Amino acid sequence: MPAIAHSLPADVISARDGLIAFADREIIPRHEKHHALFDDPRRLHRDDGRFSDELLQLIGEVRTAASRAGFYTMCVPEELGGGGLGHLAYYVAWEALFHHCGPKNWLMLYALAHWAFGPSRLLEQITHSARERFLPGLMDGTKSMCFGLSEPGAGSDASMLKTRAVRDGDGWRISGRKIWTTNAPVADYCVLFAITDAERAAAKQGGISAFIVPTSAAGFTVQRVIRLFGHIGGDEAELAIEDLKVEPWQLVGKEGQGFAAALYGVSLGRVYNSARAVGYGRWALELALEYAKVREAFGQSIAEYQGVSFPLAESATELHAAHLMGLNASLLLDQALPAVKELSMTKVYSVQVGYRAVDRAMQIHGAMGFTNEIGLTDAWHALRIVNVADGTNEILNRTIAQRLFKGDVEI
Ligand SMILES: Cc1cc2nc3c(=O)[nH]c(=O)nc-3n(C[C@H](O)[C@H](O)[C@H](O)COP(=O)(O)OP(=O)(O)OC[C@H]3O[C@@H](n4cnc5c(N)ncnc54)[C@H](O)[C@@H]3O)c2cc1C
Repeated sequence: MPAIAHSLPADVISARDGLIAFADREIIPRHEKHHALFDDPRRLHRDDGRFSDELLQLIGEVRTAASRAGFYTMCVPEELGGGGLGHLAYYVAWEALFHHCGPKNWLMLYALAHWAFGPSRLLEQITHSARERFLPGLMDGTKSMCFGLSEPGAGSDASMLKTRAVRDGDGWRISGRKIWTTNAPVADYCVLFAITDAERAAAKQGGISAFIVPTSAAGFTVQRVIRLFGHIGGDEAELAIEDLKVEPWQLVGKEGQGFAAALYGVSLGRVYNSARAVGYGRWALELALEYAKVREAFGQSIAEYQGVSFPLAESATELHAAHLMGLNASLLLDQALPAVKELSMTKVYSVQVGYRAVDRAMQIHGAMGFTNEIGLTDAWHALRIVNVADGTNEILNRTIAQRLFKGDVEI
């Protein structure tokens, strides 16, 4: 029986179901076939922590196959050559992929273009020349990109950026440092944020510009791969930008207006992470339900104990609410409404309840919950991180409170 009264449009249903079939055909079998690789972190990473060539080969295969099948670029605007589906499709497709594949079949991350690593609506703002040079490879999945906003001294407060783009002829020279840049260790291009007008930036009146640059350019260096949660490698990096020459055609949007592009990108990230939290939460809930039915203690299945069943009921209730919020925020975005408060509420709530659902599933599995085989710890790590990435819970609550005090009290 459906749990949600609202019916999804036919094109969204067909995209979602097509992607699930794609995962069953192209992703899960790859994980099965290459299980020895996926079970061995030393084979997944080079000594410097970057993804190994073996892994990059598989990622490339999934991305290009998904592009050929039309899924990879389905949410890219038609004007850029994509399928033109909107935020609702983006939310529904990611939620379904995370729910269906779980954390173990993580090549699913490359079946649909992620807003920061592949083509997205963000690229509507790149120039004609940049489109000619960069778009074909991004669209066919042979190239990827990254999003360099955060810096060692500038996280939640982007006005603290120190990276500067100084005028040089009709272009600029950029110097600074970036940190936490996901996909940077292997990306071909980077959307890089720098201050072009320090006074305006300090007054929070613009002054930040965005540029698209090849990561092979002189002056662009991946200094180190950042390891999280004790992993031996990773996908986040610290970047050193030294006297990097950029031309006017590399501007993304208008000079001094880069922060608007950053905020749009981050809002797509909030849609993605809300979907990820609900998808993983549902996957963990279903795993815990199955386990609770078969695991016995004190003469009966542990599902008989309210100490086990009530936390699962609470997870289901919370995930249902988060799912409805995700669908609603996406629909508002598709109506070209900013949905600042609603998207903030959705992300802050989804990541907390998704994380809690995974944590409860671990507890219900007892010691089994901590094993590498089941994958609950992978989902737990992923969702713990998104309580910080793309806007911390505190910053999102701050945004919600600001909107409320400005009189936006519709809920
Ligand atoms: C896995 C991962 C991937 C990432 N990928 C990228 C990427 O690809 N590109 C990119 O540019 N960035 C990326 N980031 C960076 C991310 O955007 C920042 O971590 C985030 O914006 C928070 O910044 P910070 O870590 O510097 O924390 P800070 O801003 O230093 O905050 C520290 C703490 O203070 C709290 N705090 C700050 N201000 C307030 C306030 N006004 N009220 C209450 N509490 C406050 C925060 O909530 C937090 O708990 C990534 C981060 C992670 C963890």
